[in-house]
Amino acid sequence: MTPRHGAFGLKFLWLAFLLLLSPNAIHADDHYDIILKNGLIVDGSGLPPYKADVAINAGKIVKIGDLGASGADAVVDATGLVVCPGFIDILRHNDLLWTLSEQQRAIREGITAGLAGNCGFSVLDVQKNLAKLQKYPGILNLGTLIGQGTLRDWFVKTNKQKPATPQEMAIMKLFLQGALQAGAFGLSSGLGYEPGQWCQPAELEDLASVLTNYPHAVYYTHIRNYRSNVLDAIKEAIHVGETAKIPVVIQHLLFKLPSNWDQTESGLRLLEQADEDGHPVYATVYPYDFWGNEVQIPLYQFLYLKPEDANLGYYRSNAKTADILAQIHRRLQEYGGGDKVEITRVKSKYFKSFLGDTIADMAKQRKISEEQAVLALLVENGEYVRICYHGLSEEGLIKKIQTPFILFGSDSTSAIPHPRDVGAFPRLLETYVRDKRVIRLSEAINRLTYEPAKLMGLKDRGLLKEGYWGDVVLFDYKTIRDNATAVDPWEPPTGIKMVLVNGQLVYDAKDGFSGRYPGQVLRRSND
Ligand SMILES: [Zn+2]
Repeated sequence: MTPRHGAFGLKFLWLAFLLLLSPNAIHADDHYDIILKNGLIVDGSGLPPYKADVAINAGKIVKIGDLGASGADAVVDATGLVVCPGFIDILRHNDLLWTLSEQQRAIREGITAGLAGNCGFSVLDVQKNLAKLQKYPGILNLGTLIGQGTLRDWFVKTNKQKPATPQEMAIMKLFLQGALQAGAFGLSSGLGYEPGQWCQPAELEDLASVLTNYPHAVYYTHIRNYRSNVLDAIKEAIHVGETAKIPVVIQHLLFKLPSNWDQTESGLRLLEQADEDGHPVYATVYPYDFWGNEVQIPLYQFLYLKPEDANLGYYRSNAKTADILAQIHRRLQEYGGGDKVEITRVKSKYFKSFLGDTIADMAKQRKISEEQAVLALLVENGEYVRICYHGLSEEGLIKKIQTPFILFGSDSTSAIPHPRDVGAFPRLLETYVRDKRVIRLSEAINRLTYEPAKLMGLKDRGLLKEGYWGDVVLFDYKTIRDNATAVDPWEPPTGIKMVLVNGQLVYDAKDGFSGRYPGQVLRRSND
């Protein structure tokens, strides 16, 4: 210090030094709408977690760091909680016409954005429906796809089971263009059922070629087969992406039969190969060992019996009883044994205690064979007894979760009572991240947030970052739990403590829903 700086210069330098030491002093007067204080930030990028405060103003994240004594209209103590971006569920159905209770179920599992119109079905008039949604916002952000099945339902009239005529192709393409211009995020197909099953690969590729000219447009597909021909079906999906030069998402990638579980690795390898060849292909999974139609199957149907056979009288002849026991034995062997079959609905009060147990559990408790347990269930409950078949491979699921290009989707429909509807994402975090340690927490959050945001071309969502929308979830990593089961599929999860959408508090585990509707319409961007 030279004497010519004098006393004023010294003071000034001292002040500058203080400010350098304590950057918060600069912001002592800052005031925010919300501060989430002292949480463990898992920011969506995949980088390791760190402790910090998050400040939100006017719907957006404006600061992340040590906010010291800064004030806010609402300060939330996030000590001990994970603070991360809201989950983006790219596998939803129900178009844009979600009821409030469906939206609430999504929010309660941490979902702040959903992509509807999957598996071939959507609203036809995307523009009209997005406008309606804009006028009457929901509690979370919503976007949609346009369904190939929907287009075909409306415009292929000449012969539904034959390839579309050139005129029919032209009008389907025109509507697809309209939907993409209105903001649809791509085309979805459902090739395992009508009318998608009648659509040959050439027609599909022709239709998907429209997507080439639209940035961020993606082909999402419920492939033609998830059983013995699953590998061919995966190849078909990859080929559509290659010819249209667009990314592909194979929805709910399942290997449904024990006999095709060993195709999991080859299937994943096909996806990896496509990626290496420069054609990005993703797939989604939900973390359960049973799929949609397997949750509440009538037991008689599962055993290939006729409904009228599931009556008490049928078994009153010894010869028939011997027959039926042999048949039950064959089926149980075919399906991997009684421990794969969970009892989900019964009529008789004497069997209620077995709800949630497997046939193997019941046999053990009653000291009878598995076949006799099945017969007892049928005799006393007739056609009312339902079961959940746990027919998917746990090992295969773990392999999929370990694969970087696997994303997650709830496949929520509200029509099928599957626990995935309310618990898919909490279950992933609880069972496969925390308990089984299949992937790290930051990686799971990355694939629930930033990866789908990038895929959809959402430039200001999916990360906790300054300038990004305040879609935020606070959850307790130690207690997060999916409580829904095949018996009680609507039981909400625990551990999700707070959900903010576009910077507004929508849900708080203590006080419930706030009554705010901050949801925005998500549209594909041309940038
Ligand atoms: Zn599907």
